[in-house]
Amino acid sequence: MVEIVKPVQMQRVVSDAKRRGKSIGVVPTMGYLHDGHVALMREARRENDIVVLTIFVNPTQFGPNEDFEKYPRDIDRDKAIAEKENVDFIFNPSVDDIYPEGFSTYIDVEGVSELLEGEWRPGHFRGVATVVMKLFQITLPDRAYFGQKDAQQLMVIRKMVRDLHMPVSIKDVPTVREPDGLAMSSRNAYLSTDERKDAVILFTSLRDARDQIAQGERSRDVIVNGIRNAINTIRNARIDYVEIVDPETFKSVEKLEDDREYCIALAVRIGKTRLIDNIFINNK
Ligand code: AMP
Repeated sequence: MVEIVKPVQMQRVVSDAKRRGKSIGVVPTMGYLHDGHVALMREARRENDIVVLTIFVNPTQFGPNEDFEKYPRDIDRDKAIAEKENVDFIFNPSVDDIYPEGFSTYIDVEGVSELLEGEWRPGHFRGVATVVMKLFQITLPDRAYFGQKDAQQLMVIRKMVRDLHMPVSIKDVPTVREPDGLAMSSRNAYLSTDERKDAVILFTSLRDARDQIAQGERSRDVIVNGIRNAINTIRNARIDYVEIVDPETFKSVEKLEDDREYCIALAVRIGKTRLIDNIFINNK
């Protein structure tokens, strides 16, 4: 495995590989790797000649009062994990190399970016779309891998790729969970022992909602209130949002119809840690 930090060098390496007819799979991450990231790497490994893992804690997707500075980082551990998963290249650039002095071009994916996470984290998806566009320009993927864990991000990226005719196939990978159901996340490292136990409510409330829908419930209010009430039993939990949305547009729905797919998405703060999760409902 080779570590590359300079964008031009990364571009040179992947262009050479492409000229030799090799396919490139790219897994963009912010590092502090866990088994969710590993699932993406394995899928990329299975489908491509060359796998590039990018590790970049992207300042433009963090709000002014968010956790950019204290976001967990451990590049040595990440390298060991990537090596074990047979990743070919780690691209680990500096902030200055990605956003040089005077940088002023951004990608705004209108519509889907403005809802849910977009409402609670203004500018977040602009930062995400911009950095993913840059990472694609630098790593030239045939395929790029994203987790369903960040379902709205996935849709923002799919829309950007479609709207801008980008020649890359976006692949999604199901959410990897801890044994009790908590979605794996680098931010889980912030949780105290008690908070970690409480955090499972994000998953159990979504799972119970899915069961309720399977048994015939169709009212958005009943389902959302069920989730809210379950979460509110946890003293340390504060809900940002719970919504049932169309998984393409992320627009909220009022009443569930048969034969359609929905996503129930939520964001909850457990103590000081903000966690997100979602579940897809295939109402068929
Ligand atoms: P992050 O490092 O948190 O920005 O995540 C990098 C990529 O890994 C994104 O595409 C995430 O959606 C994906 N990812 C994060 N957590 C999980 C998980 N628990 N299961 C599957 N994919 C995940």
